[in-house]
Amino acid sequence: MNVYDTCLLKGDEKGIKKAAELLRQGETVAIPTETVYGLAANALDHKAVCRIFEAKGRPQDNPLIVHISDINRLEELVTDIPNSARILADKYWPGPLTMIFNRSLIIPESVSAGLSTVAVRMPSHPVAQAIIKAADLPLAAPSANRSGSPSPTTVAHVLQDMQGRIPAIVDGGECEVGVESTVVDLTGKQPKLLRPGVITPEMLISALGGVGIHPAVKTKLQDNEPAVSPGLKYKHYSPKANVLLVKASPQRFTDFVNGQKGEGTAAMCFDGEEGALLVPFVTYGSRHDSKAQAHRVFDALRRLDEIGAATVYCSCPDEKGIGLAVYNRLLRAAGYEVIQLD
Ligand code: AMP
Ligand code: MG
Repeated sequence: MNVYDTCLLKGDEKGIKKAAELLRQGETVAIPTETVYGLAANALDHKAVCRIFEAKGRPQDNPLIVHISDINRLEELVTDIPNSARILADKYWPGPLTMIFNRSLIIPESVSAGLSTVAVRMPSHPVAQAIIKAADLPLAAPSANRSGSPSPTTVAHVLQDMQGRIPAIVDGGECEVGVESTVVDLTGKQPKLLRPGVITPEMLISALGGVGIHPAVKTKLQDNEPAVSPGLKYKHYSPKANVLLVKASPQRFTDFVNGQKGEGTAAMCFDGEEGALLVPFVTYGSRHDSKAQAHRVFDALRRLDEIGAATVYCSCPDEKGIGLAVYNRLLRAAGYEVIQLD
């Protein structure tokens, strides 16, 4: 692993130019997007892509999303563009939606981790767009965290994980969405949701007429089950603490957690529901505001480490709409351990 003197670039013209130069030289750069910070490299350069895997400590069988700023760039990356993709691109690009296509041969195998498909997204963040344009390259970019830990939504989070491991980070402020893009596979007979995000199943159904949901969105894949989307099989988004998801009313949650009180026990709960808790806690938005939960969930998971939590009881979010994305991330942070009290 190279040791870098990681430089912090502003999201202005000078910073964007410097980031683009580094990317064209085959280096990695952490860039802001509207979802989470991404660790970008030239998607057409195998060696550059390998640097992403190395910096993150990411398993080689977990493919990357390719980011573009111009729809015309899509044609060279994929073998065919189904009508469903055109409909979704019209509606949701640029934005937090990733689509899976059959890949063209210019995509190195390292990007698609040996799959015959490639994931593509057009981000809406102005700094991400400007960097892609200035580099004039499609950029492979997974989230800019060490593999397994919560995705970064601020420069401070990226620094925690990546300082010394990458040459530069571009500052674009706090990420607005807070959870990664919705991933939808368009290579089969029916569109299939592989990862929920703020583009919800309801929105996909209304645009396409129907969408399947991969079972791994809500349940653990068996060890011998083939993973369509290899990222789905890993425990992910976890703080150092052991997280358990608790499905309960506010009152039952508080009573239960207080009953578990002890060294290292902590809670992760909704705003306004912390009053009677007798253990250290972090909050992550109102119970009724999935958008706020999405915006704050990864920061809350990181703060659990700061308060020295060893075991965390996390109040379970509603699974409807954007809530499904929050639920999915917490379920995986908890290694699918759910305590049902109601
Ligand atoms: P991250 O890079 O952390 O945002 O994760 C990217 C996600 O997209 C992972 O869960 C991958 O498994 C998924 N992904 C990327 N490329 C593909 C692909 N070709 N087919 C299915 N899933 C993919
Ligand atoms: Mg990730």
